Amino acid sequence: MIFKVPFLDLRAAYLELKPEIDAAIARVLDSGWYILGSEVEAFEAEWAQYCGASHAVGVGNGLDALTLALRALEIGPGDEVIVPSNTYIATWLAVSAVGATPVPVEPDLATYNIDPALIPAAITPRTKALLPVHLYGQPANLDPILAIARQHNLSVVEDAAQAHGALYKGQRIGAHGDIVCWSFYPGKNLGALGDAGAITTNRADLADRIRILRNYGSRLKYVNEVKGFNSRLDPIQAAVLRVKLLVLDEWNARRRVIAQRYLEGLAGSALVLPKVAEWAEPVWHLFVVRHPERDALVKRLNEAGVGSLIHYPVPPHLQEAYAEMELGMGAFPVAERMAGEVVSLPMGAQLSATSIDPICRVCNE
Ligand SMILES: *Cc1c(COP(=O)(O)O)cnc(C)c1O
Repeated sequence: MIFKVPFLDLRAAYLELKPEIDAAIARVLDSGWYILGSEVEAFEAEWAQYCGASHAVGVGNGLDALTLALRALEIGPGDEVIVPSNTYIATWLAVSAVGATPVPVEPDLATYNIDPALIPAAITPRTKALLPVHLYGQPANLDPILAIARQHNLSVVEDAAQAHGALYKGQRIGAHGDIVCWSFYPGKNLGALGDAGAITTNRADLADRIRILRNYGSRLKYVNEVKGFNSRLDPIQAAVLRVKLLVLDEWNARRRVIAQRYLEGLAGSALVLPKVAEWAEPVWHLFVVRHPERDALVKRLNEAGVGSLIHYPVPPHLQEAYAEMELGMGAFPVAERMAGEVVSLPMGAQLSATSIDPICRVCNE
């Protein structure tokens, strides 16, 4: 059987909201104001409220959100930050960008999120922060992570780039740790039409520091308090995000329906299916299954016209970028096993639920 299901259809998402998005972009173009300003401030207020956080600060992208968060916490050379061994490399790159050292901790194979039980052994006198990732849209187990942080006087920075709208014990991700970092890369659950990012926090001091850092270290034009960056949320993207925020819950609900259909359709298959932790209501950024013969499965899906991707094929410690850490194959076996076995099936709010059944048939063969 041959059919066509793309892994993700970003154009379909745009077309569903085309009149509203076009009007929002036209509003910014007509305003004559193209850096920061009222559109960015309005999105920041709406995003903070949605996340249940006191403050949101819009920045250029998710990597910058993480980097500015660590800078605001004054983490730098000589410091260590605990990160998952199985994340997108941006999480590690932010730590490296401030001159600190990422210290990887393995995930548990059930939820794919950092295993809190393994964190204490990785803490040294140099450790300054814990940086959990809510991978694939499922919150990490935050309570034990926050407890360890309190016990050792560490900051908690969350990488929430895949978790827009996800709930941890009934509360939206966005204000559990000291700073929560967001990416609005087009493929995320809340995606802009270009690069965009933000941080949310309940701490006014940190929000204030990041607001300055993103804009040349300046609160007042030509008055530079610190050596800052240029990483401002673009008002055109802010206007687009305001439109898409209105449908985020509805679009996440559609993802939930698709995930349910996969879980039912694949229940008897040889694949390892995603497990939802009792504390989590995930938003299914990705629907990730596992199989020892993953490459054969990908080939079979390809032949049937089903798009799939691997998140992620090479863990950060095996990337050339981190060759200086001298962490070879075998250093993080859980992350390495995931890299060899995971595959992400088509997932998105514009995917029709009926297209899931034939995908399941291919997987069940
Ligand atoms: C997308 C992503 C990022 C980086 O976001 P950008 O906006 O592309 O810089 C960071 N961490 C995780 C887990 C991501 O999925």
